[in-house]
This record gives sequence, C-alpha cells and structure tokens, in this order.
Amino acid sequence: SQEKISLLTSTTSSRKIGELEDDTISYFIKKKLGVWCKQSRGHWELGTIRSTSGEEASVLLSNGNVTKVAKSELLPANPSILEGMDDLAKLSYLNEPSILHNLKLRYSKEMIYTKAGPILIALNPFKDLQNYGNDHVPAFNQKFIDIPHVYAMADAAYNEMIRDEVNQSIIISGESGSGKTETGKIAIQYLAAVGGGSCGIENKILQTSCILEAFGNAKTSKNDNSSRFGKLIEIHFSTMGKICGAKSRVVQLGSSERSFHIFYQLCAGASSALKERLNLRDASNYKYLNQSECMTIGGIDDAKKFQELMKALDAVRVCEEDQELIFKMVAAILWLGNISFQVTVSENIIEVVDDEAVTSAALLMGCSSRELMAALSTHGAQSENGTIAKRLKLQQAIDTRDAIAKFIYASLFEWLVEKLNKSLQVGKKCTGRSISILDIYGFETLQKNSFEQFCINYANERLQQHFYRHLFKLEQEDYESDGMDWTKINYEDNQECLDLFEKKPFGLLSLLDEESNLPKASDLTFANKLKQHLDTNPCFKRERGRAFSVHHYTGEVFYDTNGFLEKNRDMLHSDSIQLLSSCNCELLQFFYKVFSQTQKQSNSFHTAALDSQKQSIGMKFKDQLFKLMRQLESTKPHFIRCIRPNTKQVPDIYDEDLVLQQLKCCGVLEVARISRVGYPTRMTHEEFSGRYGFLLSEANIYQDPLSISVAVLQQFNIPFEMYHVGYYKLYLRAGQIGALEDKRKLVL
Ligand code: ADP
Ligand code: MG
Repeated sequence: SQEKISLLTSTTSSRKIGELEDDTISYFIKKKLGVWCKQSRGHWELGTIRSTSGEEASVLLSNGNVTKVAKSELLPANPSILEGMDDLAKLSYLNEPSILHNLKLRYSKEMIYTKAGPILIALNPFKDLQNYGNDHVPAFNQKFIDIPHVYAMADAAYNEMIRDEVNQSIIISGESGSGKTETGKIAIQYLAAVGGGSCGIENKILQTSCILEAFGNAKTSKNDNSSRFGKLIEIHFSTMGKICGAKSRVVQLGSSERSFHIFYQLCAGASSALKERLNLRDASNYKYLNQSECMTIGGIDDAKKFQELMKALDAVRVCEEDQELIFKMVAAILWLGNISFQVTVSENIIEVVDDEAVTSAALLMGCSSRELMAALSTHGAQSENGTIAKRLKLQQAIDTRDAIAKFIYASLFEWLVEKLNKSLQVGKKCTGRSISILDIYGFETLQKNSFEQFCINYANERLQQHFYRHLFKLEQEDYESDGMDWTKINYEDNQECLDLFEKKPFGLLSLLDEESNLPKASDLTFANKLKQHLDTNPCFKRERGRAFSVHHYTGEVFYDTNGFLEKNRDMLHSDSIQLLSSCNCELLQFFYKVFSQTQKQSNSFHTAALDSQKQSIGMKFKDQLFKLMRQLESTKPHFIRCIRPNTKQVPDIYDEDLVLQQLKCCGVLEVARISRVGYPTRMTHEEFSGRYGFLLSEANIYQDPLSISVAVLQQFNIPFEMYHVGYYKLYLRAGQIGALEDKRKLVL
C-alpha cells in the first residue's frame, strides 16, 4: 500500500512549523540528536545542540565549529536511518532543510526520482542516466523493482486503467527546463512498450511530438527547447490494453512573439526549389528572427532538424500539398515581419513601404500588394456617409501587422494539431479507456510578472485545486477504509484565489475584459479599477501605481499591469479579418471560417459586429483551460513535479535555493507542511510490530500484529494524541518514529 501524505490541518496551531519546543530541545541535547542550524544566507548546516541559555542555543556543527544561534533558527534533523529515503513521507521531519538534504543526497547518487507521498518528484539530471529504454521496462512491468521512477508511475496508471476501468492521467508540471517534456516522452515510451499495438501508433505519437515541438517550442534563457504551450496527449487503449489511438489538446498562451524553431529550421533546411517558391532568405534577413541575439542553438543543426520534421510530417501522413501550405504560411509570416512603414512628417500620415516584403507576403497569402497595404495602413470607420477609410497611426499599423502574423501562426498551430489528431485517430477497437499525459508550464515568479505569468499562474492555481481535491479524496478513503471515524477532515483549498480570478463581474479576468473594451482605458486605470473592486478580497493586495499582488498558493506574487490591456485585447481588426477572408489561399480562408465560428459561439448573446465583442486572450485561455480541466476531472490523476536543479542546464550541480523555490511553487512543501500536523508515518501493523515488537518486555503474550503495535505504543508512553490505530495501519505523528528508532538502536 502506498504511503500518503496527510492533509489534515489544524487551524489552532500558531506555532512556527517544525520549531523545537523547550522540552524537545532538552531531549535533543540529552540524546545528541541532529538539528539543522540556520546559517547566513538561509543556508542550513547539520549539528547537535550542546546547551541553551534563554532564547539562544550553542550548537556544534558537523564541520567542528561551535556557533550560537537563536532557538528559532533550529529545526530537527531526521535520524540517520531515514537518510536518502525514497519517499519524503517516510521522513519523521518534513522541514525544508530535511527535504532539501534528502533530495540532494539522492541526486548525488543519480537517484533523480523521489516520492512525496503520492507525488513523484523528478530532478532533471541534464545527462543520460541509462535508466530508460525497453531493456528496463520488464523490471517495472513485472514488479521486480520498487523504486520511484516515471516507469513505475506509468505502470501504475496502466494497471489501474485496466483493473478499475477508469481513465488515468499523468500530470507533469514544473518550470521551464525542468524536464517536463522529456518526462512525458519517457512515460509515453513506457506505455508504448507495454501497450504497443501492431499499427505503429506509438511511433506516430512520438513523431507528433517532434512536429508540435518545431511549431510550439522556442529557445528561452531557461531551456533551449522550451514548450510555449500546454499539451495534453490522450492515449487510447483497446480492451486488451493495446494502444489504439491518440489525441492531443493544446492550451496556447496568448502572446507568442518568440521565435519558434520552425522559422529557423525552414530557413536553414528548405531545398533550393522550396526556397525559390517561398522567396525565402537566410534567417538573418528576417526582422522577426534577427531581433534576438542568438540565431542558432549550440549543438543543434536546424537544417537537419528540418529534414527530421519533413520525415515526421510524412510519417503522420500530412500530404505534400499540405506541407507546402504550412511552409507558405510560415514564410508569409516572416515576410510580414519585414514590412515597414514611412511617416510623412508634414501630414503625419503613414504609408506602407512598397518593397519586396510586401510583394512576397501578398503573394504567399494570395492577395494583391494593394489590398495588403490598405489593410495595414487604414481602418474602416463608420461615418454619416457610410464607411470611410481612416489612416492608422504608426503604432496602430505596426500592431495590425503583428496581429495578422500572430493570428496566422496561432491558427496554423491549431490546424496542425487537428491534422495530427486525424492521423492518430482513435481506432474502432478502442474501448474508450485512456491515459492522458499533461505537459504544462509551471508556476512562474519573476521579479516583475506580466500578463503571461498572470495566465500561467492562474492555470497552475486551477491545477493545484485539482491536486488538493484528489489528495483529499485519497486521504478520506484511506481513513474510511481503515475504520477511522474522522469527521474533522479539513483542508485548505485555494477556491478563494480562483474566485479572485474567475468571479463575475468582479474578478480579475472580468475586470480586465471590461477595461480592455474601453477605448480610453490604460494599464493605470485598470490597476485602479482592481483596487476599487477587489480591495476587500483576502487574496488581493493593492500595490503602488500600476501594480497589484495576488496571494497564490505558492505565496504572494507581484504583477505589473504594464501591457495587460494590450496583450489581452485581440488586436485583429475587422479590416484585417476582411483581408484574410478575401485571400486566395485555402488555409487562410479556413482560418477565417474557424475564427468567425468561434466568435459567433462566444457572442451568441450579442448580435454585434465581429469587432465589438471579440473574445479576449484571457477569456480564450480560460476557455481552453476549462476544457482541459473537464477532461482531466474524469480521470484518476498521477502527479509528477519536475525540478530544475541548476540554471546552467548542466549535470551534477544542485543549487539548494533554486530547488527550494521550486519545491515551494509546486506545492511539495505545502503538502509537507500540512502533513506536519497530520499523521505522516503510516505503517501496517505487520510492519510496525515486525520492526519494534521485539522491544516488548513481555513479547510472547501477544500474537496478533495489532495488539503488538498497541503494546509497543503503551510501553514507550507514546502520548495518545501522537497516534491513531486503524484496522490495518498505525498512523503516527511526525517525530514519533525517530524516538522509537532510538530505542531500537539501544537494544540492537
Ligand atoms: P521542460 O519541458 O520542462 O521545459 P525539457 O523536458 O525540455 O524541459 O528538458 C530540458 C532538457 O533537460 C532536455 O533537453 C534534456 O537535455 C534535459 N533532460 C530533461 N529530463 C531529462 C532526463 N530524464 N534525462 C536526461 N536529460 C533530461
Ligand atoms: Mg517542454
């Protein structure tokens, strides 16, 4: 049976978590038990307390030095028998230094996986550990080994799907560069190995990832291959447990001005014939690409990647005509980015510079240069005499150009996902049973957080609720099945924070939309509006000027509203839409059709023109997120939290601060904190009596494990509130097992 972390919380406990009380300190001194001692810069050192006076303690550090610190700077360390535990829930003390130390020790031994109750923590090794591949599958499949591993988790999901006939999900989260996408691939590879059908679908699934990565990933400072979208891959199985189809769903983040791999790959790898057809140049010629300093990624050959991409497209049966269309759109976007504007000083009006960029973009899009130039420089305005063309200001013209490029790219990506889904189509033999693998950007806290972090963090807040609810359910089931009459189960949900985002009309998203629709609004008026309506909300905090803070489950996050309105507005004007609808290009017309359909759907209450009530980026994000959550809610979840041990993307470096910050963000510490007041140690009576039964002075009186357990507890005067006896298991509060271990050591 799986160890689980308790979610029982006590609201009365105001004591700082894990802090040592005076009588405990005396016990630690007497028994020379280890403590963590806070040093400068938040670093923790192991030591033993020698003496105390008042609020101060004198500590002998493991390096031989003696130091004086405030008692409040001491935390209990775990007994050495618990060193390097494969499950944090097995630790007696779940304080920060203990968890960090445990993970560090394991990481140094290349044990990158550790459980935290039901969660699997995965530290990115940044090197090939040789612990994956088909050779390793049987050991997990046939349960020869029982160690924390992605394979073990995928195996559990697979077995539970078959046994319980319930769809499963593997939810992978973590920062950029922490290893989410790799972990997802490892899980898929395992599932393909145990559930591989004969139709080669597993290969297709991996090819699909290659295509989605080319279009959805970009190099960032944190990861050379960072996914800028959230992805849910649903793998379907037959009754026999064989893979019979797959499907992906994506959640796109509104702004995507980054340079996706495909642009570089196309420029570097297109054949000369294709280059000619697209009038394509080197990547360095395109403004959308050459703005950033780095044009190449170390160790990556873009041209080779392009060949791989074409092979992958062939493998998933995207026909040559469609491939040509895709590349045409990519090239059109590149040329759009090169279109420039001229301002005539005297009349202060702008004109599109009629150069190669315009002709190339127009040609690829299937419209005339004149039409394109008109759409980029004028705006149809209503007047008494009908519609008149009003000249755009320079910034408006630039925004219009970029909005068209973004629209084409976002539509292309969506179209491609659908295309891939068709190719992975779920076969007739499918039972409808599936395992979904979610790879989604994790919580982000930068110095200054913008609209992107706002969306990402909101999504993570939703996922966190999913996580809480699931753990809570597990917890309750465990108690109930063990005959515990526990009515006071009470857990901290993050519903308040979600309400702050979602409430209508006074939630962050609604207020943002309202303000985005006001022509004279600015980021400052938006910030003021938030302060006006949300000041009493406990999750909201006003900040100076344009800023505000949100109390997330990870702590307080500071947002700067700079650019919020602009990023939230869909900048695509009706003139641009008109242009796209008149283009003589199959794909653009299709994009137009899809676009107007979704607009109609979201506007079923409005008969207004397309332009007035366009769905905002924030709302679109929320919609996609809700669809995703609905899909997840019908599954049994398994959680993997990926951790990036260093920012350099190199092996063998474990940056404690960086790890700690991520543990906080992914809720592991939160779970640890909660379990501090619950019963983190759970052992079956067999396990417990087997380990400690021999300590009994009158051992032979008792036969059954339960009685032996109780006798042990009584003999050692474990206070009643420190344990709970279930039918099958003994539930112990933190710290109790360490004391028993000491007794055991004395005897052995
Ligand atoms: P994320 O999707 O979280 O941004 P990735 O999955 O792209 O991160 O991982 C970033 C890099 O880290 C990968 O390109 C790979 O080099 C390395 N990496 C991640 N997980 C592993 C692993 N399990 N074994 C070896 N290397 C890994
Ligand atoms: Mg990724």
